[in-house]
Amino acid sequence: MIVQKIPVSILGATGTVGQKFVRLLAAHPWFEIASVAASAQSAGKRYGEVVRWRESTPLPERIAAMTVQAADPGIPGRITFSAIEAEIAGQVEQAFARAGAYVVTNTKTHRMEPDVPLLVPEVNPGHLDLLPRQQRERGWSGGIVANPNCSTAGLVLGVAPLHQAFGIEKIFVATMQAVSGAGYPGVASLDALGNVIPYIGGEEEKLEQETAKILGSFTAGAVDPAGLVTSAHTNRVPVVDGHLEVVSLGFGRRVSPEEAIAALEGFRAPVDVAALPSTPARPVEYDARPDRPQSRLDLDRGAGMTVTVGRLRRCPLLDLRLVLLSHNTVRGAAGAAIQNAELLVQRGYVAR
Ligand code: NAP
Repeated sequence: MIVQKIPVSILGATGTVGQKFVRLLAAHPWFEIASVAASAQSAGKRYGEVVRWRESTPLPERIAAMTVQAADPGIPGRITFSAIEAEIAGQVEQAFARAGAYVVTNTKTHRMEPDVPLLVPEVNPGHLDLLPRQQRERGWSGGIVANPNCSTAGLVLGVAPLHQAFGIEKIFVATMQAVSGAGYPGVASLDALGNVIPYIGGEEEKLEQETAKILGSFTAGAVDPAGLVTSAHTNRVPVVDGHLEVVSLGFGRRVSPEEAIAALEGFRAPVDVAALPSTPARPVEYDARPDRPQSRLDLDRGAGMTVTVGRLRRCPLLDLRLVLLSHNTVRGAAGAAIQNAELLVQRGYVAR
């Protein structure tokens, strides 16, 4: 049990993901927000003054009163949650890691680097063992740990039980992604409303590459990507939160829908991961109702950390097809990073 809370900082604290961090960390049993940072435009001002608070719970007074810092190493916090734009994340996150902080990042910048753990704790917690190599090779006392892109987070967790049980060889996925995935103000309302935009820059590549890394095996100090092929189509739809994905899967052998549903229903996190505060009791829930999951109705299962799967049936093109839903700013961003930080503490990288 952690008696004294671990001080943490948030980079990009005024943004969409940053606000979700503030909300989730404000009541966290292990962590306490020690500093909030954003761009030079916001630095030096009170957080409550500069943030356009978009969460549905009130902004905690203690955080509203904090002075926003510039994103410089040395700001208070032994763990640094990063939700800044990818263009600046490389330099900033590396500077924090060099200075001894553990950076838990949402940004794409370091995800595919061979010494950076790209984690979904229920699926590949062992990949955290890349960290000593990263520290040794880069000469850092801190380190960088990444969570996947928001659409990949839902896909990987939703299909991991099937990959573990039967071995997936092919994935076809088409996404319907919420506008909050583009940050704030993000997609202009005149583009988003009453419309579907069949393009999200870089998203298809992320789904295709990150999925293989996360489902890969960790051997001899390196991640060997899973030998599966993913074909992704990504679309922006006029939904506030929640990424819905329709998926077809090909296996090396015949798998019946009944076997696959049993694998989904029987899936649990490894025992130590299940004990983390942010791990939901059921990381994957199967809903047998014919019109579920739905973005508005099923988004908050497991406090936004559960992926809901439904409509599992035979596929005439591959073997099986299904629909899955995940919360893009919780399981796909802030909640995932907080769970990664909990794993860092549990595995002894950050002292309690
Ligand atoms: P956002 O709403 O646009 O917020 C960007 C944040 O970065 C703001 O706090 C901004 O501060 C800060 N910032 C900008 N320039 C900076 C600088 N030079 N130094 C320090 N801070 C700076 O973006 P978001 O949607 O939260 O996304 C943040 C990151 O998470 C991105 O890399 C994104 O790709 C990734 N991500 C987002 C989602 C999602 O669902 N939204 C999911 C997964 C990953 P100011 O307010 O001062 O400008």
